Amino acid sequence: MVKISTIKPVIKIIAPRIGRMPAGEAARHRERDEALHWRKWYKTSRWQKLRWSILVRDGFTCGMCGRLEGQTSQLVADHKTPHRGNEAMFWDADNIWCVCKGCHDGAKQRMERRKL
Ligand SMILES: [Zn+2]
Repeated sequence: MVKISTIKPVIKIIAPRIGRMPAGEAARHRERDEALHWRKWYKTSRWQKLRWSILVRDGFTCGMCGRLEGQTSQLVADHKTPHRGNEAMFWDADNIWCVCKGCHDGAKQRMERRKL
């Protein structure tokens, strides 16, 4: 009940921003693309090779829960210290470990969110 009265003022504040545009929007899109420029690194064969070498090195075993996972699609080559677009950190094998999807999507994501 209280919520409806608090939502209205927010809409009034946002509306004028939707009015002006294309330049502002284009800039925002550009910022977003630049912020995520490293996403394409995950699509390279260099990353596929590195990922595989990490899984082999770590014996297909999750570094967090110790689970041996035979389904490599369930394993993630995860950056211990978030690279945040830092190329050296992204490609540093010492900064990457093998974790299972369950641990990666659960504990690890929560950890990174807390650090933000
Ligand atoms: Zn695990």
